[in-house]
Amino acid sequence: MFEDALVKQIRHTLKKCDGEFAVRKSDGRIYVDAVSDFDYDETVAALQKVFGIAGICPMVYVEDEGFERLGERVVRYIDEVYPDKHKSFKVAARRARKNYPLNSMEINMELGGVILDAYPEMSVDVHKPDIMLHVEIRDKIYIYSEIIPGPGGMPVGTGGKAMLLLSGGIDSPVAGYMIAKRGVKIDAVYFHAPPYTSERAKQKVIDLAKQVAKYTGPIYLHIINFTDIQLYIYDKCPHDELTIIMRRYMMRIAEHIAKETECLGLITGESIGQVASQTMQSLMATNEVCTLPVYRPLIGFDKMEIVDISEKIDTYETSILPYEDCCTIFVAKHPVTKPNLKFIHKHEENLAEKIDELVKTALDTDEVVVVS
Ligand code: ATP
Ligand code: MG
Repeated sequence: MFEDALVKQIRHTLKKCDGEFAVRKSDGRIYVDAVSDFDYDETVAALQKVFGIAGICPMVYVEDEGFERLGERVVRYIDEVYPDKHKSFKVAARRARKNYPLNSMEINMELGGVILDAYPEMSVDVHKPDIMLHVEIRDKIYIYSEIIPGPGGMPVGTGGKAMLLLSGGIDSPVAGYMIAKRGVKIDAVYFHAPPYTSERAKQKVIDLAKQVAKYTGPIYLHIINFTDIQLYIYDKCPHDELTIIMRRYMMRIAEHIAKETECLGLITGESIGQVASQTMQSLMATNEVCTLPVYRPLIGFDKMEIVDISEKIDTYETSILPYEDCCTIFVAKHPVTKPNLKFIHKHEENLAEKIDELVKTALDTDEVVVVS
């Protein structure tokens, strides 16, 4: 199932690349054949975003036309891939087809000799060679020496679906990336507060979702108008508890959409102690309103560690654009860092008159953008 999911993801990704490819699974590997001209760099870059790929080996294969021809082909391969010959190498042959006349050790030695004859400036190092030349004898003969790291993880879609609370910040796109890396499909929800948050702030979140979608595949982004709920909380609750109460409503609404769309959990970009609303006490208060599990993959990360990942996945530049977000608009000067649940419950009662209706309207006016 995992292999088939990976083949499917690879095919899907390659559709966006120039060139035609045939993808097949064999011997516990996935082979991607270029059946037309293609853009090497673009193709490798695209495959490096497919979760489940451990490594990418650019490979050539030749028909078995005897050992002499193989030797010529290997010499040519080295010339094409390594213009500078001042390198050490080792041949690592594997004879998967047992009727080949030479065994692996013999192939290693014979090919080593052929290479040294062709390039006397090269040397053999069997312990730490610069070039590990793999030669695999199968139906055809496969030659490769490079292993480009893939992103690792599991193919998306093998692990159910979760709802990401996606803001315009640095953390939440990284959180979504990390959960998707484990094979989980992602949908997202963004709380928008017009006119306090601008169209550009919304576009920024769409752009972030687009970047994350390069790894996760299409994301259904729910854009919830949060303005009236926020204003109502501002009006009825103590301002030092505003952020916590607001976060609780975000979680409630996100969970509602998550359950309607068959998501098995929520994802946030929270990390302990990063801001007042992310102390252990605050996290307990926001967590309390959810029945679905809340995944917080960044919980033990320092900001710098999160920034490193956001740079790697190319969300950082967008995340730091200076548009306002709805968490900062109504923020109190001295927000509580240790919210008392009893007070929070009591103050939420101040909202009894209108909040259900406001939440319903917010859900009814959910704008769904499919980001891919
Ligand atoms: P981020 O960098 O992800 O914005 P943050 O450090 O700004 O996080 P908070 O503003 O406390 O932290 O938000 C904590 C988490 O709550 C975010 O990581 C995100 O998952 C969610 N969140 C916050 N604001 C929004 C929003 N406007 N829409 C959707 N989710 C949000
Ligand atoms: Mg934020």
